[in-house]
Amino acid sequence: MSLKLYNTLGRKKEIFKPIKDKEVGIYTCGPTVYWYQHIGNLRSYIFADILKRVLIYNQYKVKHVMNVTDVGHLTSDADSGEDKMEKAAEKEGKKAEDIANYYWGIFRDDFKKLNIIEPDVWCKATEHIKEQIELIKKLEEKGYTYKTTDGIYFDTSKFKDYGKLALLNVQGLEGGKRIEIGDKKNKTDFALWKFSENPGKRQQEWKSPWGVGFPGWHIECSAMSSKYLGEQFDIHTGGEDHIPIHHTNEIAQSECAFEKKHWVKYWLHGAFLTFKGEKVSKSKGGLFTISELEEKCYSPLDYRYFCLTANYRTQLSFTLDSLDSAKNSLQRIKRIISSLLESNNENSKIANDKYLKEFEKAINNDLDMPSALAVLWKLLRDEKADGKIKTIEKMDLVLGLKLLEKEKIEIPAEVKKLVEEREKARKNKDFKKSDDLRDKINKLGFNIADSKEGMKVSKI
Ligand code: AMP
Ligand code: ZN
Repeated sequence: MSLKLYNTLGRKKEIFKPIKDKEVGIYTCGPTVYWYQHIGNLRSYIFADILKRVLIYNQYKVKHVMNVTDVGHLTSDADSGEDKMEKAAEKEGKKAEDIANYYWGIFRDDFKKLNIIEPDVWCKATEHIKEQIELIKKLEEKGYTYKTTDGIYFDTSKFKDYGKLALLNVQGLEGGKRIEIGDKKNKTDFALWKFSENPGKRQQEWKSPWGVGFPGWHIECSAMSSKYLGEQFDIHTGGEDHIPIHHTNEIAQSECAFEKKHWVKYWLHGAFLTFKGEKVSKSKGGLFTISELEEKCYSPLDYRYFCLTANYRTQLSFTLDSLDSAKNSLQRIKRIISSLLESNNENSKIANDKYLKEFEKAINNDLDMPSALAVLWKLLRDEKADGKIKTIEKMDLVLGLKLLEKEKIEIPAEVKKLVEEREKARKNKDFKKSDDLRDKINKLGFNIADSKEGMKVSKI
C-alpha cells in the first residue's frame, strides 16, 4: 500500500518515494531552549513522531535529526529584537549554556512522557559554529551575500525561487510596509551572521572571517541537516509558522549553497494548537506545559490521544473539556483491553487482517489519525472479531498510546497533599474536614479507603 503525504511545496498529497530505496532522512526543527515547551509546541513533535512511526511501520529505515536552538533566535523571527537565549540568561542570572541544558532536559523528559521516539541525532547550534561559518563562506564565494552595519546578509533577489514554499508575493512585499528594512537591500533579505554590538558583552559570541558575532537563526538548520543527512534529503518538518520565514530562508540558502533544485523532497508542517481562538506562542504564554497537565491529574498520554483526534494539518482548539473527553476515551479503551487480556479466549497469534488493512489505509492516507482511531474503536466494539490483541499491538506501534501496558497508578502531588491533610484531620477527629477532603480527592479521580494497614489510594 503506498504512503501518501501532503507536501507543502506544491500544496498537494503525493505518493512518498524516498531518494534512496528504503531509507528516509528526516530533519525536524527543534525547540529554542530558553523556556519550557508548551503543549502547542509539543503537538508539533507528536506529529513528527507519528510521521516517523508510520514510516517505520512501512518498513523504512529512518534517520531522524533534530536541532536544539541555543543561540541566534531573535525575539522576532526576522532579524530584529533580542536573542531569546541571551535575554533569558540575563533575566535568570545564569549562563546561557546552563539555561539551554536545563530546558532541553525538560523537553527530553516530555518526549519520554509522551512516548515520542527520540531522534537519532540531536544537534545544538552552538556546537556547530564551524559548520555554519563554512556554509556562509560558501554562499559568500558564490556571490549571494553582502555586509551591512550589523551583519552579513543573504541577498534574496539573487535566488529566483525565493518564497516558493510560502507562495510569497515577493514583489508585494517589496512595496509593503510590514517589514523593517534597515540597511538591507531587500525586505526579505535575512542575516547569516550578526555582529556583536559590543564585543565582549554577549555571553555567546565567536570569531569569524567577518568579525565577532553569532550565527543567524536559519543557517543552523541548513548547516546541521547537511552534516547529518547530506546535501539533499527526504523530509523536513516543523510547525506551520515556519513556512513564510524560517523554512523559506532555509531553502534559499541551501539551494544556493548546494546548487540543488530540490534540496528537500517533502515539506510537512503541523498546524497550530489554538487556545481561546488564538494561535499561542511560547513567548506570549497561555498554554499549559505537560507538567502542569500532570498536576491537574491528566496523563501525558491523554494529551497524545487528544492530538490524535485531529489531523495534523488542521488547527486544534485546546480546552480542558476536550482533554477530559480524550482522557475518558483512553480510559475506556484501556478498560476494554484489560478485560480482553483477562479473558482466556483472546489468544490468537495472528492479527485481524481486515481491521489492520483498514488501519493501514488510514495512516497511509497522509497520517489520518482520526480515521485510524475510529478503526481501533470499531475493532474493540466488534464482538465477533478475532485476533484483537495482536491487532491492537500492531496499531499501537503507530499510535504510541501504550495500549497494552498495565496502568501504573501515579498519584499526583496535589492528591498526595490532600491525603496527608486528611490523615491529620482524622487524627484530630475533625471528621467534617476529613469528609470534605475525601470529596476533593474523589473529584480529582481518586478513591481513598481506610484499612487497618493504613490508607489506600486508588483510581476511580
Ligand atoms: P520554538 O521553541 O518556539 O522554536 O517552537 C518549537 C516548535 O513548536 C516549532 O516547530 C513551532 O512551529 C511549534 N509551535 C509553536 N507554537 C505552536 C502551537 N501553538 N501549536 C503547534 N506548534 C507550535
Ligand atoms: Zn529550522
